[in-house]
Amino acid sequence: MSPERVLILGAGQAGAQVAISLRQLGFPGRITILGDEPEPPYQRPPLSKKFLSGEVPADRAYIKPLSFYEQSRIELLLGRRAVLIDPSRQRVEDERGVSHAYDALAICTGTRARRLDLEGATLGGVHYLRTMADAAAIRAHATAGLRVAIVGGGYIGLEVAASLRHLGCTVTVLEAMPRVMARVVAPEVAEFYTAEHRRAGVVIETGVQLERFVGRHSVAAVRARDGREWPADLVVIGVGAVPNDELARAAGLACDNGILVDSFGATQDSAISAAGDVTNHPSALFERRIRLESVHNAMAQAKTVAAAIVGRPEPYDEVPWFWSDQYDLKLQIAGLSAAADTTLLRGDPASRAFSCLYLAQGRLVAVDAINRPADFIAAKRLIAQRHEIDVTSATDPHRRLGG
Ligand SMILES: Cc1cc2nc3c(=O)[nH]c(=O)nc-3n(C[C@H](O)[C@H](O)[C@H](O)COP(=O)(O)OP(=O)(O)OC[C@H]3O[C@@H](n4cnc5c(N)ncnc54)[C@H](O)[C@@H]3O)c2cc1C
Repeated sequence: MSPERVLILGAGQAGAQVAISLRQLGFPGRITILGDEPEPPYQRPPLSKKFLSGEVPADRAYIKPLSFYEQSRIELLLGRRAVLIDPSRQRVEDERGVSHAYDALAICTGTRARRLDLEGATLGGVHYLRTMADAAAIRAHATAGLRVAIVGGGYIGLEVAASLRHLGCTVTVLEAMPRVMARVVAPEVAEFYTAEHRRAGVVIETGVQLERFVGRHSVAAVRARDGREWPADLVVIGVGAVPNDELARAAGLACDNGILVDSFGATQDSAISAAGDVTNHPSALFERRIRLESVHNAMAQAKTVAAAIVGRPEPYDEVPWFWSDQYDLKLQIAGLSAAADTTLLRGDPASRAFSCLYLAQGRLVAVDAINRPADFIAAKRLIAQRHEIDVTSATDPHRRLGG
């Protein structure tokens, strides 16, 4: 029997999608979304891309216009933080002391930016980027000629670098590892992106161990342990994210780098499910548990949770995918490259359209496709099929991948 009252914690990508899918599946009962941010659910990808560079206004990032929720009888309680889940009474308490009863609870609380515990990290002008408010604060200061230091050369750091260059800022990226995007892409792809950023005028420094942020009230410079120092009027720190799983933990739900769910998004409490960045779920394809931070995962898992709530469960086992826009380069990533033992280049990086294929025991497990959308689509299918790769044909960019 379907529950009557569904409560969703977190008004983000997954939270909104659970509600949208429930209505699409004909769920007739009450749906409430409790979110701590003031905005209606919005997409985060533009925050480091076209929203930051001023090319897209805030309301273009909204997942649905406000009127949609009213028309769909989805109650949005915004600017309210949930502070307690009481599974025994099936209630959630918010920060105003209001108690919300549920028959089914979906936890979609996402992640927050990992903080750097360094001297000066709380000075004015030192920013993180997770929310629309964070992006608006950075954008408000990002004028031409401003000296910006970006700590972390991952996707978000590099996207911010490209967007702030677009605004005419002087940008330096400080990365602790020997190369940018070190944990996620092959050295050839990292090298290509480093060269593209340098060509755009970004300074990229690798192997930087930070000591502290220098300044009195506002940041003035960033100092490394080896004594090097970079002047900075504004700092953006992008060093990863941590799951907002504390409420679930306190409620006795099993967590390990995120809330542990099964392939239906269910926790060990039959009334509680979870979706999105906050979950750690099993991947049959990769034969391990994973916690993903991607729009596709948030949406697909949310649809899985909604289907289970209305009694039509379908297991979730999709190939992970993600994208990153930097300058005119569209990077599309599918699969998990960590599993790979071999990498192959398909096409010439000098052409600014090439792919990097990641193989494990001859099978395709991941792809980075740069300005090659057809490779991305083909590779995603081949990864799902655990396809064995013919090296000669796969490295010929003029032949269809897997053809
Ligand atoms: C700058 C940036 C760029 C990105 N770019 C890309 C990209 O190009 N491609 C891609 O695939 N993905 C990208 N991502 C990742 C993507 O945005 C996330 O994977 C996605 O938003 C996850 O959805 P979610 O619903 O799990 O979490 P979120 O969208 O983060 O939503 C969670 C919500 O829950 C709220 N919340 C947390 N705790 C509570 C509480 N106790 N009570 C009430 N509310 C609470 C949070 O404040 C938040 O509003 C990007 C992320 C960022 C930050």
